[in-house]
Amino acid sequence: MIPVTTFSGKTVALFGLGGSGLSTARALIAGGAHVRAWDDGEAGRLKAVAQGVPLEDLARSDWSQFDAFILSPGVPLTHPEPHWTAQRARAAGVEIIGDIELFCRERAALAPGAPLVAITGTNGKSTTTALIAHILREAGRDVQLGGNIGVPILDLEPPSDARIHVIECSSFQIDLAPSLNPTIGVLINLTPDHLDRHGEMANYAAIKERLVAGAEVALVGVDDSFTHAIGARLVERLAANPAEDRRVMPVSANRSLDWGFYAERGAIYFREEGHAPEQAELIARLEGARALRGAHNAQNAAFACAAAWECGLEDEEIARGLISFPGLPHRMEEVGRIDRALFVNDSKATNADAAEKALASFADIYWIVGGKAKEGGIEPLRGYFPRIRKAYLIGAASDEFAGALDGDLPYERCETLDVATTRAACDALEGDAATPVVLLSPACASYDQFANFEARGDAFRSLVQGLPAVLAARGGGRS
Ligand code: ADP
Repeated sequence: MIPVTTFSGKTVALFGLGGSGLSTARALIAGGAHVRAWDDGEAGRLKAVAQGVPLEDLARSDWSQFDAFILSPGVPLTHPEPHWTAQRARAAGVEIIGDIELFCRERAALAPGAPLVAITGTNGKSTTTALIAHILREAGRDVQLGGNIGVPILDLEPPSDARIHVIECSSFQIDLAPSLNPTIGVLINLTPDHLDRHGEMANYAAIKERLVAGAEVALVGVDDSFTHAIGARLVERLAANPAEDRRVMPVSANRSLDWGFYAERGAIYFREEGHAPEQAELIARLEGARALRGAHNAQNAAFACAAAWECGLEDEEIARGLISFPGLPHRMEEVGRIDRALFVNDSKATNADAAEKALASFADIYWIVGGKAKEGGIEPLRGYFPRIRKAYLIGAASDEFAGALDGDLPYERCETLDVATTRAACDALEGDAATPVVLLSPACASYDQFANFEARGDAFRSLVQGLPAVLAARGGGRS
């Protein structure tokens, strides 16, 4: 845990007692702050009491007594309208911040030179964050991984000069971290998302921009118009202020650059400004990196290589880390092989956009799809139908998806995941494809049949593990 000493002796209100809220409350108390915590839900309040966190119904509080207000990133700060606690804080002139901000202030007080790698973007945050941490760890560095992935930031070990914090930041967390100033800031990509919580795209992009604007080294994507514009703005700002000790490095996933980091034909390169194309340095090849298939992962890998390179790693160390990266669960995760057939769990693909990444990464696909459909359904995936041998429909979307596939792709209504997995496995093993892929990439939310996408993916993984016995019982005789 990182005790938050910067609020020692001060009174701090806190709303939202989920995982990160409780972690923040504990860290503030450990650092000597007087915490007044609240949550609308009784479950959170009960947990707080059990952990010794003092409760106070903030609706009845005198807000002028508070030195700061800590808001959980899950609670609306601005859109669709500010939560009542945010309104009360603003009316009382109390600053509204989150756990990343508390970390930054602690770092500034304890170890201002402690390396902090902060990662954001619309897609690929978790993969890139986990990959950076993996590469650094494999190279023997002392690494702390957390934030929006896994462990809340204040539950990690304290910052120090010899320890690298690798932190995933959501836009909500950045919005609550005005002094975020990472050593290396990573902005992967930007597409319209979470606009219900951020209003216009311009506002969402401006929040993400803050993470790289405050960085010593800003690694900024150039493959979409929003990040491209942000990178150009930062370059201009630095040109106007040469005394600022900061750098911007562009990163592309799909073309060589005059300078910066880029992925091209299955490898990641670095080219220094002013150098000829043939002088570009080959950092690592992606061949053999089984957890980094697909163009989207080339983008994640390019950023991870860039961050590791900026941390001072040798090319060989980076290349080793890419190859040994095990990947994250539920994102094109290989969960088994039976004979020639590969089984891939991509349960995190809860919309067509995400499922597209998996469909583009394989051929001869036996596709398990369905759940609670999102707007637009699977229409955007029509271009990938030639790669798919057959679809196996599950869940509430079955009628809609059957309508979309009718006449264009063979399909079977399976209703449940267990039936779909067995049917797809049988067809894959009996077909003539050299390497058939049974792919769970549902393009749907899971809530109609599962608690969440993790439960859906876990169920698929255990079904695949049990398949040899199921197939043997059916007389297939395979093991
Ligand atoms: P995030 O943490 O931003 O949600 P993840 O790394 O968890 O991202 O990946 C979630 C899904 O997003 C993946 O299953 C894949 O479909 C898609 N994805 C991953 N990386 C990228 C990328 N760089 N660009 C576009 N989509 C991506």
